Amino acid sequence: MTDYRIALIPGDGIGREVTPAACAVLDAVGARHGIAFTYDEFDWSCARYRALGAMMPDDGLSRIRRHDAIFLGAVGDPSVPDHVSLWGLLIPIRRGFRQYVNLRPVKVFEGVESPVRRAVAGEVDLVVVRENVEGEYSEIGGRLGRGFPEEMAVQEAVFTRAGVTRVADYAFSLAASRRNRLTSATKSNGIVHTLPFWDELVAEVGTSYPDVTWDAEHIDALCAKVVLDPARFDVIVASNLFGDILSDLTAAVAGSIGIAPAANINPEREFPSMFEPVHGSAPDIAGRGIANPLGAVWTAAMLLDHLGHPEAAKEIEQAMAAVLAKTPIRTPDLGGSATTEAFTKTILEFLGM
Ligand code: ATP
Ligand code: MG
Repeated sequence: MTDYRIALIPGDGIGREVTPAACAVLDAVGARHGIAFTYDEFDWSCARYRALGAMMPDDGLSRIRRHDAIFLGAVGDPSVPDHVSLWGLLIPIRRGFRQYVNLRPVKVFEGVESPVRRAVAGEVDLVVVRENVEGEYSEIGGRLGRGFPEEMAVQEAVFTRAGVTRVADYAFSLAASRRNRLTSATKSNGIVHTLPFWDELVAEVGTSYPDVTWDAEHIDALCAKVVLDPARFDVIVASNLFGDILSDLTAAVAGSIGIAPAANINPEREFPSMFEPVHGSAPDIAGRGIANPLGAVWTAAMLLDHLGHPEAAKEIEQAMAAVLAKTPIRTPDLGGSATTEAFTKTILEFLGM
């Protein structure tokens, strides 16, 4: 029996509603593969911030440092500014644990209607690899001349040789294990320092992967192509900001943000990686028990894959695909009327539980 300790952060809103689905699926598949999970739950959230003034305790990172992985439901609250949850929890974990790859797979499943007519089920299968710790999300900059007509804001983006090279290398290597196609998102025609540097480094890394065909596309044109012809993409590598935007776009192409999974990976495994569905806390539907659990369930599959159990991960994905293709059971975001619990139960049935 392999034993894993998972740091569980259900968070806020629907994060708390979909996390049990992820755990139930992990336990079910784990039981068949001789894998057991112990969950240590942490109440880090906007609710905690409202009560105690901090999203997590000062020694938060050291408390989860030795876990095998972190599972996060979602954090966010309408009464708490977004930058609080971002800078008070997500960014410290991503940066503190050197999770420099943000992996966001996208598939159009049979039985799910994409808003994009050309997004045919079974044909769209891509992964956005987002640089996760540097780039445009920097603290460098400031506001000058408050209140004056000349008032200005300056925000610096930081691209380092090491930072771009390692994420490009991860993306090329992922493409080499898939369909050997890589697209690099850029905007080196308008952004004249950082993105030409990004392009150069991607090209440098590319020389080590002669089998991977790759090109650079400007982010604006790339967004249009992702909508017009999503099936042509395999792996897309992008900076922190471009990757953030692209992965919301690609998640929408897949039919619902409620399905989209994500992983914050520390490829060297010096630290635990963090797994979190793409969606937020969805305050508009929170508390009603109707959140789509598939994003969390697929994210659980990514966790298993990362821990070295690709066959178990595949079983989860197959069960998801089977539920969508073979039953009319769906949560409201996919046009059904099932509850989170009923949908999860059906997935467990397809897993043979
Ligand atoms: P954040 O700031 O945390 O990214 P957000 O408000 O931008 O949050 P979400 O919380 O993801 O984004 O919600 C966006 C929309 O998608 C909302 O209308 C929400 O109800 C819907 N949504 C998100 N996740 C799910 C889900 N799992 N099931 C059903 N609907 C969802
Ligand atoms: Mg959002």
